[in-house]
Amino acid sequence: MPLRLAFDVVTLHTRHPFIIARGGRSEYQVVWVRVSDGDGTEGWGEAYPSSYYGESLEGVQAALTRVAAKLPDDPFDLDGAERRLVQLIPESAATRAALSEAYHDLVGKRLGVPVWKLWGLNAKDAPQSSFTIGIDEPEKMRQKVAEAAAYPVLKIKLGTERDEAILKTIRDATDKPIRVDANAGWDQAKALRMLPILKDYGVELLEQPLPPADLDGLGVVRAASDIPVVVDESCLVATDIPKLVGKADGINIKLAKCGSLREALRMIATARAHGMKVMVGCMIETSIAITAAAHFTPLVDFADLDGAALTVDDPFAGASIDGGQIRLPDGPGLGVRRK
Ligand code: MG
Repeated sequence: MPLRLAFDVVTLHTRHPFIIARGGRSEYQVVWVRVSDGDGTEGWGEAYPSSYYGESLEGVQAALTRVAAKLPDDPFDLDGAERRLVQLIPESAATRAALSEAYHDLVGKRLGVPVWKLWGLNAKDAPQSSFTIGIDEPEKMRQKVAEAAAYPVLKIKLGTERDEAILKTIRDATDKPIRVDANAGWDQAKALRMLPILKDYGVELLEQPLPPADLDGLGVVRAASDIPVVVDESCLVATDIPKLVGKADGINIKLAKCGSLREALRMIATARAHGMKVMVGCMIETSIAITAAAHFTPLVDFADLDGAALTVDDPFAGASIDGGQIRLPDGPGLGVRRK
């Protein structure tokens, strides 16, 4: 019997407006996806429609409606099920990610094991997660740094006209390790000007300095940089990785971009084969999507899974980043429950 599909829109609010180089807001809508088998077991997933990647809430709902009658009979054929989704809804990585998460959740629940265990991973290998300070006025940023007291590593959003002032504000407020994300907000000349400033402020990682397609510029920046340069917007799926070799030190994987848990594993293998670092990131999402990504963090170097922690109304509980350390759930499947 084919799996049955249900979905609902969930509205989330961040504690503070979440501002990055290309703008931001406080309210986010995601889609909570559930697939169920004939035995009443339910697998959960979440779709984050990123307008930057051409997605919308309506597009996700339309894609889900389109695949509803075409779900697989056998949830254990994860590879086949994911390949079929690429054929059916190539346009929506967010929707494919939600269904991939739901299939994995269902399989784990049927077997009675967490997904990380299904993959042969050790939950104790999960790294710490950074916590992100969005772009804001100095006083608000000092307040955010204080609120992030429990988190040992901060990620600072840059890509503005006042990046050095932002760094100074943060560094004056804390001695913690700092990572920065320019979200494609610099050009090559600005990035080269910023490198010694980042070094002065003790920044340990630089994410996506340049527009996604400027890989030649990226190579120049990376060659001049003493700190690792990781790409996010330049790298959506595993096949993006070979052209980044020599131009970036690492990649940032997000399920909403790559569209599947198995693709995330392929990205990790591809990056490792090229000697590159691996980071996992997220969107403003509930603990469903955050937990799904957390399951493969024992394989990564850097994690930025603060999407649910930045919100005030996450309806779910799963992987936790309390105190910065990622703690994977022991429950079967994704191990996510309603609060
Ligand atoms: Mg990023």
